[in-house]
Amino acid sequence: MTGTVGILGAGQLARMLAQAGKPMGLDFIFLDPAEDACAAEYGEHICAAWDDEAALKKLGRQSDVVTFDFENVPEASASLIESLCPVYPPPRALYKSQDRLREKTMMQDLGIPVAPFHAVSSRPELKAAVEQIGLPCVLKTRRFGYDGKGQAVLRFEEDLERVWQDLGDSDLICEGFVPFDAECSIIAARGLDGRTVYWPLTRNLHRDGVLAASVAPFFDSGLQAKAEALVQRLLDHLDYTGVLALELFLKDGELLANEFAPRVHNSGHWSIDGARSSQFDNHLRAICGLPLGDAGHTSHSLMFNLLGEMPSMAKRRMSTPQSEPDVHWHDYQKTPRAGRKIGHVTVTAETEGGLRATAAQLAGKLGVTAELNLEAVMQDVSTP
Ligand code: AMP
Repeated sequence: MTGTVGILGAGQLARMLAQAGKPMGLDFIFLDPAEDACAAEYGEHICAAWDDEAALKKLGRQSDVVTFDFENVPEASASLIESLCPVYPPPRALYKSQDRLREKTMMQDLGIPVAPFHAVSSRPELKAAVEQIGLPCVLKTRRFGYDGKGQAVLRFEEDLERVWQDLGDSDLICEGFVPFDAECSIIAARGLDGRTVYWPLTRNLHRDGVLAASVAPFFDSGLQAKAEALVQRLLDHLDYTGVLALELFLKDGELLANEFAPRVHNSGHWSIDGARSSQFDNHLRAICGLPLGDAGHTSHSLMFNLLGEMPSMAKRRMSTPQSEPDVHWHDYQKTPRAGRKIGHVTVTAETEGGLRATAAQLAGKLGVTAELNLEAVMQDVSTP
């Protein structure tokens, strides 16, 4: 197929979209204010602010369809482009996901279970919310929070003042703290014709609010069906096209929604190496109006995020991938910086036991050379 996909954002998600789309015959154009945006090597890079009208119009005119790789793109910018060419997922999904209060309210209205929550915009409202919800609870900024930033857990009455000092100058939401047994996510792709495919439920492990590792499939057929039903409500309600990720808490066999991302998602990166069609392939297929590929898994997968800088063994192995065919390194070619997501590695195996063995071996070799302590992650991964 031919055509040009415009992407608002040129980070690693846009980069992996382009890597999936180039072999399909697609061209790419990106708008991103960062001069060193890592997707830029795959197409024209319009280096401009998110609300630069001329730049947005240029992107819209040069594209057959426009999508985005992060959810804080101003909804107005996506809507402006919509007057020039189709934008998928729909800007309304951005609008809902950009504000945790709107997002949670919508999910609650759709009958998707969520932790109890209250809007908070003053100190007395915080006190009232904490009284209603009870301790512990979590206070979060309604907008621009990501990777655990802009949130704090309140465990004792004395925490209120400190947390208010830290976050009180933003609009906030106070949520019940979920003492979850596990975190997981369901990723789905919905085509222009409404047909939907789902990847297997993925178990996620966070460290300091940042995704550290994902394991798929997270087997439990009952849970898979429940998760699919929840994400389907969101997709249908938003008349959605593209990939959407719904992050969930698992508690006593029940699923509670935390948040959704109207885009390809870090917890779906394993699908590049461990599924028949990756989330990137199917996102492009969906927004280009093509039939979706099978989202079934081909192996057991474990994805580790690589933070800070690429381990030197990754660089060596990437030049000889045949030496370890079950270990798939992905380098986003970003400038190293402490805590920055600069790549990921996915281990694949035919069996769960094989996965654990290969992953433990890799963790042992990497040790603490990556900022993430892989051995510790493996231990957590093996306790559901
Ligand atoms: P979020 O930015 O909402 O995705 O939160 C980042 C991480 O904080 C989540 O993946 C959880 O590990 C934790 N978290 C967020 N909200 C809650 C909650 N209500 N209860 C327990 N843990 C939470």
